[in-house]
This record gives sequence, C-alpha cells and structure tokens, in this order.
Amino acid sequence: MDSKSIRRAFLDFFREKGHKAVQSAPIVVKDDPTLMFTNAGMNQFKDYFLGNKQAEAKRVANSQKCLRVSGKHNDLEEVGIDTYHHTMFEMLGNWSFGDYFKKEAIAWAWELLTETYKLPKDRLYVTIFEGDTKENLERDQEAYNFWKEWVAEERILNGNKKDNFWEMGETGPCGPCSEIHIDLRPEDEIAKTPGKDLVNEDHPLVVEIWNLVFMQYNRLLSGALEPLPAQHVDTGMGFERLAMAIQGKKSNYDTDVFQPMIQFIAKKSGVTYGENDKTDIALRVIVDHIRAITFSIADGQLPSNNKAGYVIRRILRRAVRYGFTFLNFKEPFLHELVPSLAEQFDEVFPEVKKQEEFIIKVVREEEVAFLRTLEIGLRKMEQIKEELRQKDEITIDGKIAFELYDTFGFPLDLTALIARENGLVVDEAGFDKEMAEQKARSRNAAATETGDWTFVNDEQDVEFVGYDMLETEAKIIKYREVKQKKGSVIQIVLDRTPFYAESGGQAGDTGYIEFDGKKTSIIDTKKENDLIVHFVKELPADVSGTFKCVVNATKRRDTANNHSATHLLHSALRSVLGDHVQQRGSFVSEKVLRFDFSHFSKVTDEEIAEVESIVNGKIRENIALYEERNVPIATAQAMGATALFGEKYGEFVRVITFDPNYSVELCGGTHVLATGQIGSIKIVSESSVAAGVRRIEAVTGIEAEKFNVKQNAILEEIKALLKNPKDIVKATQQLVEEKAKLSKEIERMNLEKVGALKQTLLNGITDKDGVNQIIAKVAVPSADALKKLAFEIKNEVENVFMVLAVDVAGKPQVAVVVADNLVKDKGLNAGQIVRELAKEIKGGGGGQPFFATAGGKDLSGLDNVVAKAEGLL
Ligand code: ATP
Ligand code: MG
Repeated sequence: MDSKSIRRAFLDFFREKGHKAVQSAPIVVKDDPTLMFTNAGMNQFKDYFLGNKQAEAKRVANSQKCLRVSGKHNDLEEVGIDTYHHTMFEMLGNWSFGDYFKKEAIAWAWELLTETYKLPKDRLYVTIFEGDTKENLERDQEAYNFWKEWVAEERILNGNKKDNFWEMGETGPCGPCSEIHIDLRPEDEIAKTPGKDLVNEDHPLVVEIWNLVFMQYNRLLSGALEPLPAQHVDTGMGFERLAMAIQGKKSNYDTDVFQPMIQFIAKKSGVTYGENDKTDIALRVIVDHIRAITFSIADGQLPSNNKAGYVIRRILRRAVRYGFTFLNFKEPFLHELVPSLAEQFDEVFPEVKKQEEFIIKVVREEEVAFLRTLEIGLRKMEQIKEELRQKDEITIDGKIAFELYDTFGFPLDLTALIARENGLVVDEAGFDKEMAEQKARSRNAAATETGDWTFVNDEQDVEFVGYDMLETEAKIIKYREVKQKKGSVIQIVLDRTPFYAESGGQAGDTGYIEFDGKKTSIIDTKKENDLIVHFVKELPADVSGTFKCVVNATKRRDTANNHSATHLLHSALRSVLGDHVQQRGSFVSEKVLRFDFSHFSKVTDEEIAEVESIVNGKIRENIALYEERNVPIATAQAMGATALFGEKYGEFVRVITFDPNYSVELCGGTHVLATGQIGSIKIVSESSVAAGVRRIEAVTGIEAEKFNVKQNAILEEIKALLKNPKDIVKATQQLVEEKAKLSKEIERMNLEKVGALKQTLLNGITDKDGVNQIIAKVAVPSADALKKLAFEIKNEVENVFMVLAVDVAGKPQVAVVVADNLVKDKGLNAGQIVRELAKEIKGGGGGQPFFATAGGKDLSGLDNVVAKAEGLL
C-alpha cells in the first residue's frame, strides 16, 4: 500500500464508524500561550476536553500536522540519528468527545491494524497503565479486559507513568493510555530475544505506532489531578511509522514518504544512501527538516529572530549545516525539495502547492544568508586557530565555542569537528556552562506562572455579543492569576461579553465592568484557544455580582476603521500588483494598520499612490458593510471569499463583504457599517519584513487627519524658513544647487591654500644630520586636507621627518611623518612620537610608524608641541 492509500484507508475506516473527517489544524499555534507548535492531534480539541466548548461532532478523525521541536515534546536531537522520530510528522487520530470510550477505541484500533492494514497479530504488543501509587492512580484494568478480547494475554504488557499516562504539557487534559507497538525484526532475532522485552526500550525495530489516550483528568498547576467533566478518547498514530510497518521497511525513511527526496539529494551530492553512516544521517536530517520548514512557512510562520520564527530558522540552519559539512553543499540546495513536497501532499495539505513559489523563495534566501554566516564563522575559526598557535595552546575556550554557536550558528559538534581536523580540542564543559547560563537567562525573562481557575459559576457556555452591542450585563464564570515578571494580572471569563478578544491581527477591546457603582478596568482582552479572557489589574470586590460591561467605544470605532481599511487595501493591492499578493499577517489597533503580504519587489511610489487612491475612492463610495454569520465554509469559498493560510476555520464562518465585486473576506473582526466612516487612508510606510514579504503601514480616520495636519505644519515651517517663496519646490531646488556650487568653490580654495602652505613648508626644511626636518605650527581647513598635505610631502621629500602642530578649523591636531628608511634604519616610529606630543594638547592618537595623527582639546598647547618636537632628533 502506498502512503496516500494508507492515509485514505484510515479516514475511510473511521468514517464508516460514524466519524467526521476534519482538517488538520495549522502546525503553528496562534491563540495558546502554552504552545508554539501543534505537537499532537488533540491540541485543537483541547477546549472540548476541558469543557470550555461544545464539540461540533462527537466523533472525529483526521491527519494532523505535528511538530515536536520544543517544549514538553522535543525530539529534535533524535531526528536523523534514529530512523523513526521526525520533527514534523503526521498524526492520524480518531476522537470521541464524551461519546464512546475504551471498549470501542480498543476494538477499532485492533480491527484497523489487523484487518484493513493486515499487520501480523503475532508482531503486535499492547501496553496498559500499571497504576501509580504516588499519584494514587489505579491500574487500568478496564483497558486490560477490553484488550483481552482480541489479544493474547502475554502480549498485553504493563507500562509505567512515563509511557502510559499521556500529558499534553505541564498542565491540561491527561489520562492513562494504551500503546500499540510493532516488532519489525527478522525472525532469527525474534527467536533470540522476545519482542516483549524490547517494548519501550528504544529499539529501532520495536516501535510504538499508536497511542490510545483515555482522557479523564485535568492536571492543575499544583500538580493535582481533577476529573474532567466527561470522558474522551484521543488517539494518535504516527503515519510515517505506520507506513514503515505496512510497507515492510526497517526505517521510516525507506518508505515512499521520504525516498523520492532522499534519492534526489543523494544524487545531487553524489553519494549513495545506505553506504555511509555520516552521509545517511545528513540525508535523513535534510529530508526531515525541509518538511518542518515547509509546513511552518505554509502556515504563516516565517523564519525570524524570535520565538517560533527562531525555532524554524534553527531547524533550517541545522539542515543546511548537515548538507554543508557532510554532503559538501556550498550553494543553496534545500529549497529544491519544496516541489517534491508540494506534489506529495497536494491531496491532504494543498497549502504547500498553493504557495510553492513563495516557500521556495523564502527558504532559498534563508539558505543564502546562512551560508554567508557559515563562511564568516569559518573565517573566525581560522583566526581562533591562529591565536591558539601563537599562544602555543590547543584548547578552544568554551566561551568562544559558545559565541560561534550563538552568533554564527555553529553547533558544538561542528566546532569540535573542525577543531579535530586541525589538531585542536574544545572546552566542552565551558560551552555547556555558557549554554546553561543563557537558558537560565531566557527562562527568567519569560517566566510566567499561570494559576488554576477559580470557578464562580458553573455556567460553561460563553456568548460573544460584541458584534451587535458594546454594553451588556454579565456574570463572572471563573478567574485566575497570571504572575509575570512585569507584574501580575488577573484573567476573568464572563458568561456573556461584548469585548472583542485580540485575534486575526485585531487588538483586543478595553473598557470596564461595573457592579454596585464600582468600576474595574478591563485593560485587554485576549483569546486562549476559544476562550475569551479579560485582563484586569485587580479582582472586583464581589465577584458573584451581575456586572455591567462596557467597551471603550472610541477605541473600538477607530480600530474598526483600520480593520475595514485593511480589507479595502488588500483588494487594492491585488488589483495594482497582481493576484500573487497574499496576506501574510496583519495588525490593526486604534492607531495604525499594518499589512504584510507576499510580493517580490519594492512597491514603487507610483504603485503606492495608485493603491491609496483606489482605497480612498472606495471610502468615498461609502459602501455598506454586508456581514453574514454562520456561512458554511464551502459556500463562503464559492462566494470567492479570501481565506488565509495558517488560519483555523471552523465549519461555519463569518463573511465580511464590502461590495461583492470588490472585497469578500472570511473574518472574525469588527468593522465599520459603511466605508465612509473611515474618512480617508494615508499609507505612511512601505518596507521589507522578510524574503518575499512586504509591509505597508497606514493610518485612517482621525489619525490620517493628524498625519496630514502635521505634514502641512512641516511644510509651512519650511516655507517660512525660505521666506515664503511663490514656488517652494523651485526655491528648495535652487537652495540645494547653490549649496553644491559653494561647496565646490570652498574645496577649490582650500586646495589653493594647502598648495601655498606646502610651498612654505618645503622652503623651511632644515638639515639635521642628513635628515630633512620640518617642524611647524600651521592651520589647515580639514583633516582630509592635512592628510593629503602630509602624504604629498612624504612622497616629495627624501629622508623627511616632519611634525606639524595644526589648527584644524579651530581644533588642535598633531601630525607626524617619518620617511620609510628612517623608520627602518633609525627605528623612529610616528605612532609613538605622536602619542608623546599629543600630551601637550591634552589628547591622544596613533597610526602607523611612517604616519600618525592625534587630536586634542587644548589649542594653546600647539606651541609646546613645536618646542618639544625641535628636540626630538
Ligand atoms: P516515542 O516514545 O516513540 O517518542 P511518544 O510516546 O512520544 O512516542 P505519542 O506522544 O504517544 O508518542 O504520539 C503518538 C504517536 O505519534 C506515537 O505512537 C508515534 O507513532 C508517533 N510519534 C510520536 N513522536 C513522533 C516523532 N517525533 N516522529 C514520528 N512519529 C512520532
Ligand atoms: Mg516521544
């Protein structure tokens, strides 16, 4: 079975069992402070488990794009070294949200593996949770009994808390689990060591393929477990491992998921996969990492210098570095794998194909930049080698190794490798120490501690009414404290809220809640998954009241201006620049709007003017907002609504239209009722944010007015300075031209002056034991002129020794010139001499043995310089 059929068979199987096949969530997580990347299929359903939200369907199945490179689940160091852990992998899953539980989950898993996929029963093992006395958790006898119906008892193994109690993170939903492992070893090895002894022992051919998690608890910050409101099933099967098992391979990389890419890169680098450990690892790292990079970019996360973007940049660099070191790639190569991925995933993850050109461009530019850094790093390494040679040492300091790592992206093993090749060693302990210190620093900087929820009400459903009203009455459902470095805040959840939570690039609402005449300010509103969280500095005195909730209307209105203007801008950009323009990110607050989009060159001033004019035209048309809620996603797409990559859309969406022929977008934000309210737009900047991504910043409404008023004021000021000419542009032009003319004239006069001065100096040469000595106090117009003068004299006069005490436009300087032969024969050194003389003008300086200068503070010391110089020879 090829991998595409394996994936299809999984979804078909669970469809038949009443499951709804749903989309993978984006691999990059947006509204969850505890998670950067999706690390398991269950992430997107977290709110269902916690009871924050009702599931749309009770039985669901999908293939989820996962990335395990940070946080609780981090497999990065294994990847490429072993044959069954990836950074990015697909997790096939079936879910029950408060519906079926252990019995069905177990029976169906067994049926799918042994009947649909025909995996041999005598090579499968299952594990159950053995219990844990410390946590006071019992053995999962229930699961054991259900397995017994299908599996021989000696194949059902006990597993400990580490392997058989699944937790998403430090807090959150969790529960006992049952894993299914497969033994892929040859018969003779199985005869020697029974498979059950190798389960969960990190054997590359006895691996876990599926984990059935029975969600029952919520882990609190205190470490305590509380039962969830309902019981759920969450399963996750590694798609690439499953393909290995079904296709009878010994490594994930031998399946059709990876082989085309491996063969491509092997051929390109002239190696054969399977012949050499080092090049094999490099090939595996490369074909693994390009998937993580490609899918992250496709879901909107560009490589960058912080947070998730930095994780992606690091992965990319790791791949480039393996190619550079082990496969001798000195030119960009990674991006050439993107088309293969676009092709392979066209059916399940079309976002790659749709953005193929863009992804290639981004990856390529990153590669080019990193290869340049690598080169600089290698040169730095040469320098370090030289320094060590001079000191007759062979150990590269841990600090230096860390600098190479931190600044140049040289991992320790690369530094160690180059060191070895040059007969040097690295102080690895010192490196580790630096690394630990840096980690501690960033941990401290980011340290927040989120408390557990305190419930005021057992109401669960939260209603957002902010599209229709800015005021309402509401009760607090729950609250918790978040301790941060910059001070603590309290988050509260209301049963009904008019406050828009920051999302889709739109800033969150502010305002207040009021009870019993006492107001509590809402300083921000954010989303956490699907929960709307209000931030306050202090909890209201009585949390059980019914509050009047009021949104700051002015801020909301100005924000809406910017948000609607963003939609108008998006369409205008597409019509002026072309259909390749895709939104790459946006931010709207009450002050500005920022819009990032894919485009491969600078947007010219003419294009900006055209875009601005189109948008202003649409504003004046005063187009009425047409808002539709709960539109089935397919209908919305048929309407031509623009959806964004990397955005998580439910089954029903909201569509915002300003003229069906102009702007139709899927959007959850708040908007103006008619475009006239925006007033006008003014684009204030255009810049580059990353390879292939441009950014436009603009202001609207009152801010646009302020901007224009300010620009006008500047103009008036300039006019006044120019004495109110009729044509201000012409007057400025004249001013500039005149200035250029005058500068030239001054330069010419200076040259003349210096020419005359030179003649005077030449006339004053004295013979001092065969040395042509010139010592004088002079004035020159600029440091450049002084230098020019010094060099001319040095070239024209043999055996010259010259000291000039100079007044350079009011500043004291000393210049010393020594003929080359005097440097050699008499050991004279202009640098040393100038330092000595500079004391007289309270200054310092230096230079080369034949020419040096010094600047100072005391003009009156110039005569002393002359006097001192006279006695030097
Ligand atoms: P392992 O112990 O092998 O690292 P795990 O216990 O971390 O696996 P789970 O968190 O239970 O795995 O994830 C469910 C399934 O996803 C696993 O059974 C496995 O098939 C697959 N899986 C987990 N991590 C990876 C990975 N890094 N690469 C590929 N597949 C993985
Ligand atoms: Mg793991």
